[in-house]
Amino acid sequence: MTANGGTRRDDDHARARSRLVDQLRRRTDVSERTLAAVEAVPRHEFVPRGHRSVAYDDRPLPIGHGQTISAPHMVAIMTDLLGIDDGDRVLEIGTGCGYHAAVTAEVVGPGNVFSVEYVPELAEATRERLDRLGYDVDIRVGDGREGWPSAGPFDASYLTCAAADGVPEPIIQGTRPGGVIVAPVGGEGSQRLVRLTVRGDGGFDREDHGGVRFVPLQ
Ligand code: SAH
Repeated sequence: MTANGGTRRDDDHARARSRLVDQLRRRTDVSERTLAAVEAVPRHEFVPRGHRSVAYDDRPLPIGHGQTISAPHMVAIMTDLLGIDDGDRVLEIGTGCGYHAAVTAEVVGPGNVFSVEYVPELAEATRERLDRLGYDVDIRVGDGREGWPSAGPFDASYLTCAAADGVPEPIIQGTRPGGVIVAPVGGEGSQRLVRLTVRGDGGFDREDHGGVRFVPLQ
């Protein structure tokens, strides 16, 4: 134990996390708000035990079931692109280990993140993990292509798996006019990160934010 009651390892993780945030500050132009969210979330609690020592490297990591947690810079960039604020209601498709959801929850606050996960075992383990870490995130097992109509409309929505044929219509419908959707779209080898701004007429304006690599939407 150290003077403030934490363990040596907690201190090591906190130092590594703060180094990561410094790196993101230099290499990206994400806001201090987003950086503070990244600094607040203990990523080592979300990765498999064998990967804890590299939890604060800026790279994707395996989380089991053939899925991966995105690199911290990608989580930070996507969070920033959502343009979210305290109290906004956010839909996530692809809960995975819950890391990205936790970063989002740091920005919008408790009870405002709704996340859909396809793999029941991942959803269950992540529910317990987020609960233990004190994050109030709603998780539903199901197909994210259907969105989460009963919990919407959302101020912002994002996908953490790539939609080959573009953002599914129910997710667009479930996002309020003026709201934003951030998603990887496209097939293997040709995915782009896009930001859609939903218009009042049900259409959307689209911005391209470069090439990316995500696991596919099932
Ligand atoms: N945000 C996650 C990243 C998870 S990887 C994190 O921080 O860990 C993408 C996730 O999307 C995987 O967990 C995968 O099971 C899930 N997924 C894939 N297709 C899906 C679908 N149709 N509906 C919901 N989740 C899906």
